[in-house]
Amino acid sequence: MTTKHIGHWAGGEAFAGTSERTADVTNPATGEVTGRLALASRADADAVIAAAAAAAPAWGRTSLAARTQVMFAFRELLNSRKGELAALITAEHGKVLSDAMGEIARGQEVVEFACGISHLLKGGHSEGVSTGVDVHSKRDPLGVVGIISPFNFPAMVPMWFFPVAIAAGNTVVLKPSEKDPSAAVWLAELWKEAGLPDGVFNVLQGDKEAVDALLESPQVQSISFVGSTPIAEYVYETASRHGKRVQALGGAKNHMVVLPDADLDLAADSAVNAGYGSAGERCMAISVLVAVGSVADELVARIADRTRTLVIGDGGARDEDGGEVDMGPLVTKAHRDKVASFIDSGEHQGAKVVVDGRDVQARGAADGFWLGPTLFDHVTPDMDVYTEEIFGPVLSVVRVETYEEAVALVNANQYGNGTAVFTNDGGAARRFEADVHVGMIGVNVPVPVPVAYYSFGGWKRSLFGDTHAHGAEGVHFFTRGKVVTTRWVDPANRPQGGLELGFPRNV
Ligand code: NAD
Repeated sequence: MTTKHIGHWAGGEAFAGTSERTADVTNPATGEVTGRLALASRADADAVIAAAAAAAPAWGRTSLAARTQVMFAFRELLNSRKGELAALITAEHGKVLSDAMGEIARGQEVVEFACGISHLLKGGHSEGVSTGVDVHSKRDPLGVVGIISPFNFPAMVPMWFFPVAIAAGNTVVLKPSEKDPSAAVWLAELWKEAGLPDGVFNVLQGDKEAVDALLESPQVQSISFVGSTPIAEYVYETASRHGKRVQALGGAKNHMVVLPDADLDLAADSAVNAGYGSAGERCMAISVLVAVGSVADELVARIADRTRTLVIGDGGARDEDGGEVDMGPLVTKAHRDKVASFIDSGEHQGAKVVVDGRDVQARGAADGFWLGPTLFDHVTPDMDVYTEEIFGPVLSVVRVETYEEAVALVNANQYGNGTAVFTNDGGAARRFEADVHVGMIGVNVPVPVPVAYYSFGGWKRSLFGDTHAHGAEGVHFFTRGKVVTTRWVDPANRPQGGLELGFPRNV
């Protein structure tokens, strides 16, 4: 099979760069190398950033009407051609096609939110704050903004940021993950077709060298990062030191607390869907199930029964009836092996392996990066499978006696991205919502990703910075406030002038 070359996108066209460094891109369902990715040198990064900087003044001055028309055109094109994008995602990430379509749909919601940017950029106006003096506030674009994204949502995570950034009048340099870089280039081509001026949306391919160029460039005004916690912390510190506004979203360990009065079938379905969807490679995946009181035995049995029915295989393939598998492969062989080593470690440290994903029989090529869903029971908080973010299809059940113990576990964790409580007791749910130190909470909803007009973000070591993604916080992040105080002299009623060196007072 032919290996495609994947390069950068700058100033409205493909840009090969001059660096000799490359990385292989693989299809996780076959293990085949399908692409050779250009890894930017510092000079390549500077060229891409320069394209964004050249386009920034004109785009920032473009009328809201014209900017909004491009947003609507992009939304229409994306909606009509999203199948192509989903196929690209599945071929490089491995997730099943319907899951890829789901991530695009959630990203598209942010595009739709950004179509209403004119309403969100309205400032305030106060007339007559002092005699003959009026005040208004406005929000200006920042200029060039950098977005650095992880492998697990090659379309949705960039779309948490760039629709709002572009609609607000900024130009963008997107640095996608080197594991699945094609979606970013496809999105760049779509922007061009939608009529976005050249240089407003750019793609910089690469690794740490490209990231460091963005973090250090004086032309880049802000960084929106999503990835693992150690890199998020590094990005936050480095970009802040270089004077940038930063939002750096990190890793997670999301607990689903099941109280004794919960609907157990709903809880079991939810645990399986949220634990193993996208092979557990989601920052909002449920990786710990906290079974409270008497609920554990029956709940574990119901989850195990469901888990054993899951079909693992090529996420892009269809069976004779047109159906797809439930779960695809993991993203790379190295990641598959790392997740499998966590299963070994859990077993050695004394957790009970109820369903063992190492025995997987996958419907797919022998060299695919397969690992089946794994269910652990009797996990304790000192075990590696509990303390580490595994980022794979491994669900750990921790048994506790009381609600208080469950909340203490959630709050002792270093992460605070998402959590869920399953109960039919509204009062208990209301108390849980108040008690937990977590950014996104579900009540009988296992993956509580906020809709586009609210903001996405965790607490503690799941987010470095103050601002969450999209919604009102996203608009605030991608704009800077100005307050203008204006005096116009009324020709019919000229005030007495004169010198007055004291601090201006409002009268
Ligand atoms: P990662 O941290 O390895 O990579 C993220 C980005 O950082 C990539 O673009 C990568 O090229 C770059 N990068 C990697 N190493 C770097 C280094 N040493 N210096 C500078 N840049 C570097 O993350 P990943 O494996 O691609 O994604 C999975 C992680 O992302 C998980 O930890 C997951 O929880 C997290 N994630 C978090 C959220 C959230 O909203 N909080 C959403 C999605 C994923």
